[in-house]
Amino acid sequence: MDCDKKCNTGIGKLDSEICKCICYVQRDDVRMTVIEWEDIKARTGKAVAKSKNRWNEITTEGYTRVPFYLTSDLEVSESHKNAIIGGLGVLNAITCLKFEPALPDDIDKLEFFEGDGCWSYIGRTGGIQQISLKDGCDDVGIVEHEAMHALGIWHEQSRPDRDNYVLIHFDNIQSGQEHNFYIRSADEVDSYNSPYDFGSIMHYSSWAFSKNGQRTITK
Ligand SMILES: [Zn+2]
Repeated sequence: MDCDKKCNTGIGKLDSEICKCICYVQRDDVRMTVIEWEDIKARTGKAVAKSKNRWNEITTEGYTRVPFYLTSDLEVSESHKNAIIGGLGVLNAITCLKFEPALPDDIDKLEFFEGDGCWSYIGRTGGIQQISLKDGCDDVGIVEHEAMHALGIWHEQSRPDRDNYVLIHFDNIQSGQEHNFYIRSADEVDSYNSPYDFGSIMHYSSWAFSKNGQRTITK
């Protein structure tokens, strides 16, 4: 079944559990379901099925395993390979998750491939889940960023409480890009009581999507 063709958005992924196409939209470097996107636009705060989107295969050693592999075009690119090994290595070192080479029995797994730009889905989607790393995305920080999206983490400035910490200057944002600065509702996002992290690898720069060279995010 060609899922992409069934979706108005042109991006579909077969959910093998329910045997149905789930349609996605892409906004900046994030791919999300159409339902998530409608919720964000409407700001209804409707909860999404968060638990289903978690990586939850706990090994006997007590860590959560996230299988991954590289497509053959990336396997031959030393710079991509080094960035992926470096980026995932950082996350393996500082979290209780471990990105490990996929085994033949793995059904849910990340596929790093050379697609159009640098982007990722949010959370575990089930099945083979792509992370795109085009030329120029072969960077340790970008790999960390996109891999964290795949773990279910949104941009830091999307936190429900972000207005307590930063100012968004919508006057300076390129027209049509305002949605990249929308807040996620508390039902969608759990910040786990962590402090707001201005230096997070998941935080946009001060000039993100600026149309006039002026800052779009300030403290
Ligand atoms: Zn991102």
